Amino acid sequence: MLKNKSKKNIIRKYKNNNNLIKKRIKMKIDTHIHSQYSKDSITPLKDIIKYSQNIGLNAIAITDHDEIEGTWQIRKLEHEGLILIPGEEVSSSKGHIVALGITDYIKPLQTPEETIDQIHDNAGIAISAHPYSYYRSGLGDIVRTLDIDAMETKNSRFIFGVSNYIAKQVSQKNNIPEIGASDAHFTKGIGRCYTEIPDCDNVDDILKNIKKGNTKAHGERTPMNLIIKEVIRKKGRKTKAKTD
Ligand SMILES: [Zn+2]
Ligand SMILES: [Zn+2]
Repeated sequence: MLKNKSKKNIIRKYKNNNNLIKKRIKMKIDTHIHSQYSKDSITPLKDIIKYSQNIGLNAIAITDHDEIEGTWQIRKLEHEGLILIPGEEVSSSKGHIVALGITDYIKPLQTPEETIDQIHDNAGIAISAHPYSYYRSGLGDIVRTLDIDAMETKNSRFIFGVSNYIAKQVSQKNNIPEIGASDAHFTKGIGRCYTEIPDCDNVDDILKNIKKGNTKAHGERTPMNLIIKEVIRKKGRKTKAKTD
């Protein structure tokens, strides 16, 4: 049995220690990453986890093109400190839509309206990917009229940044929450753009905060030399496939 005085000392010590532990107020998330399960990426899932942990991301989503195998497989790997958000980059008939928090596969080539409805029916949220990047299948101006939950205003795969600039204006004018995302197709592309949101400890809270617009898009362009390297790798693969 502890004497009263030492009990008080222990309580005081505990309180002081507790004050020293700073609670994380914000977290960094990258909601658009391609893995080896995408037809245009070769990044292994374990490398995505390791790199994301190293650069201090707190949550990520594997969003392969019309494919969800990677987003389920990654959950089998050790991912301490990293929340994994289920995802898919769905090719709607008018442009790419990132589905987050889905429970099932969303099939491609439906209209944007049908795609978004299906995402919502699947307990997910719909984000317009690189909306004003026409050469990469952005939805374009119809993003203003759709029941979209958020839109990328910073996608790190760009050359001059005009498409991100327009997206930012449209998001502000129409009160559509902004998202920063890397759209990484190789490891070093991860986290180049990211979204800052209030600290959450589960996927549902992350989705709620995005929907509410508690988001701030940050980041920079993926370095040009890395993009060029990737283009050369893809060209090489295509040539090889032709000659095989
Ligand atoms: Zn895309
Ligand atoms: Zn993408």
